[in-house]
Amino acid sequence: MDRRNFFRILSTSAGALAGGCSRKTDKLIPMLVPEHEIVPGEEQWLPSVCTECAAGCGTMVRVMEGVRQVERSGEQVLQRIAAVKKIEGDPHDPVSGGRLCARGQASVQSLYHPDRLRGPMKRTGERGQPQFGAVTWDEALAVAADKIAKADPSKIVFLTGPHAGTRSLAIARFTDALGAPAPVVCSLADFPLERRAAEIVFGWNGLPDYDLEHAHYALGVGADFLGGWASPVYYGRQFGNFRQGRRAVRGQLVQAESRLSVTASAADRWLPLGPGSEPQFLAAVARILLDSHLVRKEPPVPVLAAFQAADVSALLAACGLEEKRVREVVQELGESEAPLVLAGASIVQSNSLDAIVASHYVNLMLGNVGKPGGIRAPAPAAAPPANHRAAEALARAEVVLIEGANPAYTLPRSSGVFDVLARAAAVISFNRFLDDTGAWSDLLLPDHDPLESDIVQPLYDTRAFEQTLADLARKLNRENRSPTTPAQSPAHTLGLAAPAFEGDPAQYPHTFQPYLSLQFHDGRGSHLPWLQELPDPSSSAIWGLPVEIDPQTARQLRVSNGDILRVESRHGTFEAPAYVHPAAIPGVASMPIGDGHSHYGRYASGRGANPLSILAPIWEKSTGALVLGGTRVRLSRVAARRDWIQFAAPDREERGFDHR
Ligand code: SF4
Repeated sequence: MDRRNFFRILSTSAGALAGGCSRKTDKLIPMLVPEHEIVPGEEQWLPSVCTECAAGCGTMVRVMEGVRQVERSGEQVLQRIAAVKKIEGDPHDPVSGGRLCARGQASVQSLYHPDRLRGPMKRTGERGQPQFGAVTWDEALAVAADKIAKADPSKIVFLTGPHAGTRSLAIARFTDALGAPAPVVCSLADFPLERRAAEIVFGWNGLPDYDLEHAHYALGVGADFLGGWASPVYYGRQFGNFRQGRRAVRGQLVQAESRLSVTASAADRWLPLGPGSEPQFLAAVARILLDSHLVRKEPPVPVLAAFQAADVSALLAACGLEEKRVREVVQELGESEAPLVLAGASIVQSNSLDAIVASHYVNLMLGNVGKPGGIRAPAPAAAPPANHRAAEALARAEVVLIEGANPAYTLPRSSGVFDVLARAAAVISFNRFLDDTGAWSDLLLPDHDPLESDIVQPLYDTRAFEQTLADLARKLNRENRSPTTPAQSPAHTLGLAAPAFEGDPAQYPHTFQPYLSLQFHDGRGSHLPWLQELPDPSSSAIWGLPVEIDPQTARQLRVSNGDILRVESRHGTFEAPAYVHPAAIPGVASMPIGDGHSHYGRYASGRGANPLSILAPIWEKSTGALVLGGTRVRLSRVAARRDWIQFAAPDREERGFDHR
């Protein structure tokens, strides 16, 4: 018996043993494992993978003997189980290198969460109301198969999270077997723009790998790589080596971003770009490199022509940056032995693809592609590029299948998501919790917790998602097939378009930037109390996220920290506490994503506001990604501070801060 199987220990005969108990008792049901294989008080560390985000950090899971209370024949009895006590990074894993972020550490709370779905459930009330009754798996699968069989296959929409590997392949095979369109990734955290830019410039399939730890001088543009972007553990670990891992070199980081993110806070210099001005900034960088004869390799002729035509002064004025300061940075970047530009779209704008494409060409000009300290190709991906046009797909949906996605939370109201969920013939969720979208579902067919797939025995009557799909395919008499490759996106030429903002500036004077948060990511982490208790890096708020505004706006609105603000766009309104951020760019309001779930367990439901809910329905043209930063808002004070907790308020009092 190997170590993993050894821990699949919940006894199938435990029920029989418990059934023999004649009184309410604390009688311990033994595990059916030889005593020599589990020693009370001794730990085992088993390898696994964190699935809290798409980075997929390798982990080591500490497992020990534990006890849980279960009901057997109407009696409460105790049962010995293998219990997960702690999760750490796997030192041999190339991504985590032995480290984990807070979300990875907290994932153990997801396994033991009191509000996990414990088995299949069927709607008993109205859609949108969380009223469900337990059913058997046979009944649930029969109902699901019936609803799928009756639907027009072209109107079956499968929304997924940002999965890699076998799970995305299983879903693609299932939809192909049904004759349905390929699955659609409905997530704010799959980084389609970064993937598309790498495909356009280098022909790569996947997220590029930046060798930050061997770079000498890094220019970050729009990618909060130590915060909510891509792979914070991987880049956090690299950043440590970039700074302190070499005897003779301390890496220099300059971060150009439209808010003082975690990465910008850790940088040597922050260049506060106006929202959506990243393409203009990078064109100016390229032109200065050309003018200073610091180019090591010429880009393709049309790109070279576009950069040669760039007017540095005008572009940097549009970015809101001082030209002298930028010229200094570019000179240092160009002269560095190992320069690197690390660009992304932490806050997606309508022109973010242009920015990331331009950054790749700047890397090409700096001669670092494929070199130590440069940009490298991703590992070969098993799956073809995914479709991210969730709102477009939902518009034609008759049956909606959902796994690892939560469209009722991550899509703005203006997208019409609630109309679709209300009128669809069937909505079926495979998620582990009754979340915002689950409340609109007809059937809940909960998956195991990821730790139950390879570390411990399932605690409840859940079922592995892949098994549920296979069972459904059998009932539908369809055989899962290899997926067909989706059509390619249209070609892209480098442009320098200004960002598109929706809303009349006279009525809605502020630009609004919801961003992926360190603790809750795209909102999926907010059901865990450890993450609610983790102070927000910007405001130090716990159990409630604020809107960040600049001191000048705060003075105009007569707002102090914690006062309640109304944030209003053409598409909706919400209220949240204000955090007067000394380094916020005047006229730009920002808010971490995570709060405002209508349904997501006892710790997240009804807490705070969802900044995504009021966004305009603007989608990046080439990929279909939701434009997070394209909505103008109006702010007003509605009430004095109430019930808002800051962990370290005195450190963050409003004070003078010259960000220029
Ligand atoms: S970055 Fe954090 S949440 Fe993402 S896989 Fe790694 S540990 Fe998990």
